[in-house]
Amino acid sequence: MKLILIGAPGAGKGTQAEKLIEKLGIPSISTGNILREHLAKGTELGEKARGYMESGALVPDDLIVDMLKARLSKPDCEKGYILDGYPRTVRQAEALCGMGAGIDRVVSIETDDEAIIRRMSGRRVCRDCGASYHLLYNKPEKDGVCSKCGGPLYQRDDDKEETVRARLSVFHQQTEPVKAYYEKEGILLRIDGMAEIPVVTKRIFDALGLSE
Ligand code: ADP
Ligand code: ADP
Ligand code: ZN
Repeated sequence: MKLILIGAPGAGKGTQAEKLIEKLGIPSISTGNILREHLAKGTELGEKARGYMESGALVPDDLIVDMLKARLSKPDCEKGYILDGYPRTVRQAEALCGMGAGIDRVVSIETDDEAIIRRMSGRRVCRDCGASYHLLYNKPEKDGVCSKCGGPLYQRDDDKEETVRARLSVFHQQTEPVKAYYEKEGILLRIDGMAEIPVVTKRIFDALGLSE
């Protein structure tokens, strides 16, 4: 099974990817998490991406496509994967098609911009594994500590309101057209993401024909 999760920043892609990993036993690949690892390690790619990420712009397609290609060639992707945060432009979708990926389904988590802005101030992310939590809606077992790996939780710099607004505008301009691309292929599933986390999970599982 090869799945894509598409949605605005904060729509719940990472949160729902974790539920799908448990169910399907395939890895989730978050281009945002891979980029943040490069930033933390200070690699050449990280240094090239930093300015774009800090301002909420997209990192140029060429850099992202090469990075994704390298990740998909790893053996754990052989049985399928979930893409979280890729493709974000039609060019990225075309590049994925050119890699012969053969995507089965594209899940679009649909949300409301003002709700996202309220939601984002409470997001906390694990520095070690990238897992996503919320101060009110998805609390870790122990404050400030990742329930999955024990790593420290932090607030992303780009989750401040001003940058979230910039990222939402980038989403509408550059990523929304990717939905039309997959709608034409007949594999787009639109899911209403404005409900509690388990309700959204059920909607996604139902749409994919998975039992919980
Ligand atoms: P969110 O989960 O809030 O949508 P991500 O962690 O996916 O955010 O992405 C954070 C930042 O990393 C983006 O604002 C962008 O700068 C960069 N980024 C991540 N994925 C891509 C991509 N596929 N193409 C271009 N830039 C990307
Ligand atoms: P994305 O990967 O799309 O950027 P996340 O999965 O990181 O989004 O979710 C963004 C924030 O909102 C996190 O703090 C997460 O715990 C929280 N969240 C996710 N889904 C919901 C939901 N349905 N209702 C309320 N909060 C949610
Ligand atoms: Zn963790």
